[in-house]
Amino acid sequence: MSELYQHRARKRFGQNFLHDAGVIHRILRAIHPRAGEHLVEIGPGQGALTEGLLGSGARLDVIELDLDLIPLLKLQFGLAANFHLHQGDAMKFDFAQLCSTPHSLRIVGNLPYNISTPLIFHLLEHAGLIRDMHFMLQKEVVERLAAEPGGGDWGRLSIMVQYHCRVEHLFNVGPGAFNPPPKVDSAIVRLVPHETLPHPAEDPALLERVVREAFNQRRKTLRNTLKGLLDATDLEAAGVDGSLRPEQLDLAAFVRLADRLHARTQEHSPLP
Ligand code: SAM
Repeated sequence: MSELYQHRARKRFGQNFLHDAGVIHRILRAIHPRAGEHLVEIGPGQGALTEGLLGSGARLDVIELDLDLIPLLKLQFGLAANFHLHQGDAMKFDFAQLCSTPHSLRIVGNLPYNISTPLIFHLLEHAGLIRDMHFMLQKEVVERLAAEPGGGDWGRLSIMVQYHCRVEHLFNVGPGAFNPPPKVDSAIVRLVPHETLPHPAEDPALLERVVREAFNQRRKTLRNTLKGLLDATDLEAAGVDGSLRPEQLDLAAFVRLADRLHARTQEHSPLP
């Protein structure tokens, strides 16, 4: 492709193109695409992963925002019957238009780091359609996704993603694998949406609200951070010690708090 047109990486699109064949191979091996599957690649760029994904024979839909890359992708892959190109913003893309079979889409992408967190939240709205997701992300973000309660990485991102998915931090990738090299280390993560939620909340929006409120001031005790939503009786009813800090609570405990808040809204009893 470079013989025809030298694409200049654009910072605003988070363009750091993979060029290390060993890393590309390792990512493809982790994804392990097969004929008969339905893959979606977000941000194919210059096709570093696309070629291997298509080679599996799986159906592949790609979503690319940068208009300059579209003709290159068409030229490179347009003849493959299993290739389907969508120009647009993955943040606004309606993934439900691609299929209606539960747990069938396999999403992959070396994501633009500036939008990776909101993009994951957008995808979680379609968690029921997704079989798994493999992403290259900033290493710190993967550490937060895969975190366990009790440490500094455990927070809103870990809790809301683990509510929907099993998370596996697969391996790290150094800046030298990309062109241009990013200033941060990267890592590959696998997210597998649960077929049955292990800790379903009565209202996931209330879980989001409790978690956001609790971690707004993560150094304070739950009794303090949650006092606008739940009082001491509520905490006790949820089996939560109000003298703990939010990072000490696991997902199940946050769900009990959210359900307590839900019960209150059902009773129409005034919030404390
Ligand atoms: N997959 C290629 C690779 O591994 O070399 C490119 C990865 S690069 C980090 C991110 C890609 O996402 C770029 O091609 C960029 O143009 C594209 N992109 C950025 N924002 C996007 C968005 N909102 N929707 C879809 N693609 C986007």
